[in-house]
Amino acid sequence: MSKTIFQKIADQEISAHLVYEDDQVVAFRDLHPQAPVHVLIVPRRPIPRLAEAAAGDQAVLGHLLLKAAEVARKLGLGNGYRLVINNGPDGGETVPHLHCHLLGGRPMTWPPG
Ligand code: AMP
Repeated sequence: MSKTIFQKIADQEISAHLVYEDDQVVAFRDLHPQAPVHVLIVPRRPIPRLAEAAAGDQAVLGHLLLKAAEVARKLGLGNGYRLVINNGPDGGETVPHLHCHLLGGRPMTWPPG
């Protein structure tokens, strides 16, 4: 299977503005930010999407959420932020490598578009 663009970023084959990385996840600035702060948190292991995550992915998914909160704190989002995981065509997923959007730096509206 060919690598997704996020796999290439995690493997340092494509450059990105990294804000955090460890052995399980990488976090980097979205190329087309939808808010003053827009970061993607991505597991190094290429799970295509949440719907295809398995019981064995539980630890990395929990880790990913905890790191999202840590990155939010580090980037000064003390007043709040939004986490988004787009799943499948109707969810607006465009990159088939599970990722969590961290959006902040402005008030978010509801419902989302
Ligand atoms: P989604 O629509 O949920 O699959 O989100 C994919 C996100 O990846 C979009 O917000 C894109 O702007 C972002 N994106 C695509 N390519 C890159 C890249 N090379 N570096 C950073 N963000 C990217």
